[in-house]
Formats: sequence, C-alpha cells, structure tokens
Amino acid sequence: MGNLEELFTSVRSQFPALTQLVHGKKLVYLDSGATTLKPQSVIDRISHFYSYETSNVHRGAHYLGDVATGHFEAARQKVADFLGASQSEEIIFARGTTEGVNLVANSWGLSNLKAGDEILITVMEHHGNIVPWQMVAEKVGAKVVAADIHDNGELNLEDFKSKLSAKTKLVAFTASSNVLGTNTDVKLLTRLAHEAGAKVLVDGAQIVSQLPVNVQDMDCDFFVFSAHKLFGPFGFGAVYGKKAILDQMPPYQGGGSMISKVTIEKTTFNDVPTRFEAGTPHVEGAVGLHAALDFVEKIGLDKIHAYEMEILKSATEKLLAIPDVKIFGTSSNKGAILSFNLKGAHHSDVAQILDQEGVAVRAGHHCTQPLMARLGVPGTVRASFSVYNNHEDIDALVKAVAKAREMLL
Ligand code: PMP
Repeated sequence: MGNLEELFTSVRSQFPALTQLVHGKKLVYLDSGATTLKPQSVIDRISHFYSYETSNVHRGAHYLGDVATGHFEAARQKVADFLGASQSEEIIFARGTTEGVNLVANSWGLSNLKAGDEILITVMEHHGNIVPWQMVAEKVGAKVVAADIHDNGELNLEDFKSKLSAKTKLVAFTASSNVLGTNTDVKLLTRLAHEAGAKVLVDGAQIVSQLPVNVQDMDCDFFVFSAHKLFGPFGFGAVYGKKAILDQMPPYQGGGSMISKVTIEKTTFNDVPTRFEAGTPHVEGAVGLHAALDFVEKIGLDKIHAYEMEILKSATEKLLAIPDVKIFGTSSNKGAILSFNLKGAHHSDVAQILDQEGVAVRAGHHCTQPLMARLGVPGTVRASFSVYNNHEDIDALVKAVAKAREMLL
C-alpha cells in the first residue's frame, strides 16, 4: 500500500473543500456517489476559461470564438478517447446522464419503439434510467420490464435471460449500481441483448470514475455519463452512440446550431453530433470535463481502482464489526460504495448523527425506489468513497456509526 498511500495523500491535497470544518469537525466527505469534489486543476481551468476565454462556440468571426470552439471540440475528442470511441462525432454533449437517457429515449425510442415492444432494464436502476423509458413506453404502447437481482446485489442472470425475447427492442442497464456498488458484466449483457436483436444503452454514471471504459470493446450502442461524478462540473455530460445509429436518429430538441437550413415552412438538420446539441452549449462544462479527465489520467484509473478497493475492503470489515450493521450489496465485483442500515434505526437519524460528526453521507432511497422495494427497506445510509478518502476517513465513519448506534438503539 505504501506507494499508493503516498500518491493518494498528494491527490487529497488537491481538493480545497477538504480543508474546511463542518459543525466544528474536519470534513469527512463520503458522498462521492452523489457528486465528487472538484480538484484545484478543474476549478482553475474553469476560472481561466471565464476570465480569459469566454466566447460563444461555433459562431466564428473572431479570435476568442475560435479559441472557445477549439477547446470545446478538443473536449469532445478527449471524451471520445476516454471512452474508446472510434471518432469524436460519436460524442454528443448533454446535461448529464439523465438528459443523455432522455435524449436516446425520445430520439431513438420514439422513432423505433412501437406497441407491444419491451424495454428491459434491471431492478437496481437509478430513476434516471427508468422514468424516461416509462414515459416513452407509455407514448408508443411499449412495456418496461425489469430483471431481478440476487440477495447479494448481483444481477440475476437467469432472470435477465428469461426476460429477453423477440419483443425486447432495447436493454438499458447500469454498469455500476449507485446503491449496491455492484458492477454488471457489460460485455456479456450486451452480447445477450444483441443476440436477442435489441439495442443496448449503458448507464455509465458510476463506472467512469472507477474503471477504464471502452465502448467498442463493450459493443454497447449507447453509453451515458455525467461530468460531476468524475471530478468535473455540474450540468454537463456526454452520450456516446454508434455513428451508424446516430445518423438515423431524429433531433431531440430544436433550435440554433442543430440546423442545416431553416425556412418558415421547413428545417433541415445538421449532421451528428451537432444535430443533437440545440442552442448555446455548456462550454465551460466541456472545458472543465477536459481538465477532469486530465486529472484522472494523470493518476491512472488502474491506481484509482486499486486504491479504492483497499479502502472499500477496510471500510467493509470495520463497519461489519459494529453490531447491528447490515450492508446491502456484497458482490465481490463492486465499486467503493457501502449502503447500510443500523437494524432498528431510521437511516435519516443515522445520517444526521454522522453529519454532526463531520461525516457527510447520503441517506434515503437514492433515486432507486424499485430497488428499495426489492430490498424491503424504505432507504439506506450510503457511504461512497473516492480518490481523496483515506483510512482516517474510514475510522471517522466507523466511530460515528458506533456513536449513532449508542444513541439510537
Ligand atoms: N444513474 C446512476 C447510476 C447514478 O448514480 C446517477 C446519479 N446519482 C444517475 C444515473 C443520474 O445522474 P445525473 O443526476 O448526473 O443525471
């Protein structure tokens, strides 16, 4: 661990948020599943953009416009490389994972789904990968079906296979659960879906910060993620789509930039990806995401993964040593997320006591109400770890949970 410990001590020092006290206690930030803190390099990059490079993109005609456009398109190439896409035209910028799913559901979904078709998801999906499909399904008369999980939080592959049929036109699933931590076998699920004749959308919100992604190797048709869970800015993210499929898809929103020619009677649309990016885009989002990807690549996802697995192992062991703790999601293939409850205590009460100790966790249904119903609980406490957490943070969590147990049970 020696070298990793040193490396991640230096990584931690790049996060100014961690220098502050909350409720008079050192901030122990264990809510990276909701959003990651931002390193100084990302903050500085966005500040520099606003200070010296503010200009609209794709409007030409002056120097700063060209500078901003250059950065915006360089970010697209950076994302394409990060995801292993074959070309930057396969990357559409959007507000994040949720807007990405809505884009695919409304554009691809509305023009390809019809009455009687099925959309297969899993019971552990985030609402962002459930509700858009339900809305589109309702419009066209299709049906959303969900594959179950095992009690340890892994996907029930037999149930998944049994729900795949000739009716299945799209399979949408998470690469990593934001509650259970479970990582799914994206390649296998994609192959099975393709064999059944369905297209595949992968929700990459929780995977991009923990493991390398290669969309060509996965062979998924769509992949969506948010910048803010990857050390980047809020309100920004990307959709990867296979070029041949994107080329066939109608626009999602209408407006400036996405057009080729407009007359009062009729509009023809721009090529991919601009066709899907109506209006002035979130330019500093792209610039900030570029800096965030530089930050991640400088450390290396291999090292990030190794470090997070050490942290997860230690935190799991120490938390389980506290009586009455029940952990939800115990797959051996999972991200650095610990969802738990203290038997007999309400998750919100536990989180409130932790907060008073400076330990920031999330409590509730985590935008996964069907999963909560499957687990038979109204909510859980969730501690999620990232590159800036260390063993002291684990000890602070464990101490605070032990205190909550004494106070509540
Ligand atoms: N899917 C998963 C697995 C998530 O964790 C989240 C965010 N919690 C989302 C989708 C939605 O992401 P966003 O709110 O950034 O659009």
